[in-house]
Amino acid sequence: MTRLRRTSVSNHRSDRVFRRVLFDRARDHFAFFNLDPGLVAARSDLDFSLVRDHSSKTKGLCAHGFDRCAASDAVMKSKESIETQVERLHTGGLIDMHFDLPMDLYEKRRRPNVLAAEFLPEFEAGGMGMIGAAIYIEDRYLPERGLQVALDQIARLYTEAEQSKRCVICRTRDEISRALNSKQTGFLITMEGVEPLGDDLDLLRAFYELGVRAIGLTHARTNAAGFGGIFAASGSSPEGLTPFGRELVRECERLGVIVDLAHINPAGFKEIVDLTTKPLVVSHTNARKFYDVERNISDEQIKMVGQRRGVIGINSVLVSPAQKETTLDCYVDHIEYVAGLIGIDCVGIGFDFFEFIYRQWPESKKKWMAEKLTTPHFIPDLTNHSHAPNLTRKLIERGFTDDGIEKILRGNWMRIFDEIL
Ligand SMILES: [Zn+2]
Repeated sequence: MTRLRRTSVSNHRSDRVFRRVLFDRARDHFAFFNLDPGLVAARSDLDFSLVRDHSSKTKGLCAHGFDRCAASDAVMKSKESIETQVERLHTGGLIDMHFDLPMDLYEKRRRPNVLAAEFLPEFEAGGMGMIGAAIYIEDRYLPERGLQVALDQIARLYTEAEQSKRCVICRTRDEISRALNSKQTGFLITMEGVEPLGDDLDLLRAFYELGVRAIGLTHARTNAAGFGGIFAASGSSPEGLTPFGRELVRECERLGVIVDLAHINPAGFKEIVDLTTKPLVVSHTNARKFYDVERNISDEQIKMVGQRRGVIGINSVLVSPAQKETTLDCYVDHIEYVAGLIGIDCVGIGFDFFEFIYRQWPESKKKWMAEKLTTPHFIPDLTNHSHAPNLTRKLIERGFTDDGIEKILRGNWMRIFDEIL
């Protein structure tokens, strides 16, 4: 009985993935004539090698036109086999550890079914099994309304997930595992910056009871717990955590809440490493080798995470300071670089898709962000969850093994949940 149920649940995701692949394939055929800039190079390589292979086998037998036709057939077959591989690799569901969903649901709280209408189609097209849904409080609500807005963001997430019937909030490793093996998308509630807690440690327990399972002490700001890493190569506070920040970290370890090292300044990072014993987690960041700002992660920090068998989620927003270098290949360069330093077991996804929020902002707010933080650059073919198959396809093209890809897409984060939650 159990076995039958498991089979049928897993078939749900297979069906979903199959429908998605058909959709993607249709889109790819279209894209063949409207080549996506990020895929032009790869597809050109593919076409060239297949034309060359085919020609060598059929030399002297076919007219040029026939060659092209047969080669095009071969291209489609090869593409089909890559799509089948993508489908198989996505069957177990993907895990993205950072997405600013709750703040958007909160801002659109007067509209019904925002999650189902605006996000679920993308989650399902991308094969998302679990997403880290980050509570984040914008400056305009601080300090007075930080706690209330955080509670409202969580409330919106529960309400919308319940209404959609296709999403579920996960609190344990087993619940995440069930979400990955079902047709639902799971959410793990995370907190980016502890402003909602003020300096009240007791509130950590309250948020834990509401389902929060990962906490990053700061965003780029300074708060009661510590100092954020800035968007420059140096210049944040030389100080690490405050006494409140240290208490929070200890209490997170005790409760089984992941301490997320994304955004914290270098001194705070080192202090958290020394205070904790569990695998280190950086939910969404990039290698400073390619984009040298404190907000990203240095080789020394990457190695600290590796020594503790932690996981670094690669961010899609800060792959390069230059828009023209902000490509899917560059995203994979970050994955390759981190894996090269500390192993394929220590790298995952923390997409941090942000374009949908940025797009909604007035010019004045974009200008404010450019002055205060940075101008975000978006990868043209990796701006939302429906683009996740593009990443998997690229990993295959770049020579990653199936085993390695599965670790990046879900396996490494699952190991962290096993060890911490
Ligand atoms: Zn962030």
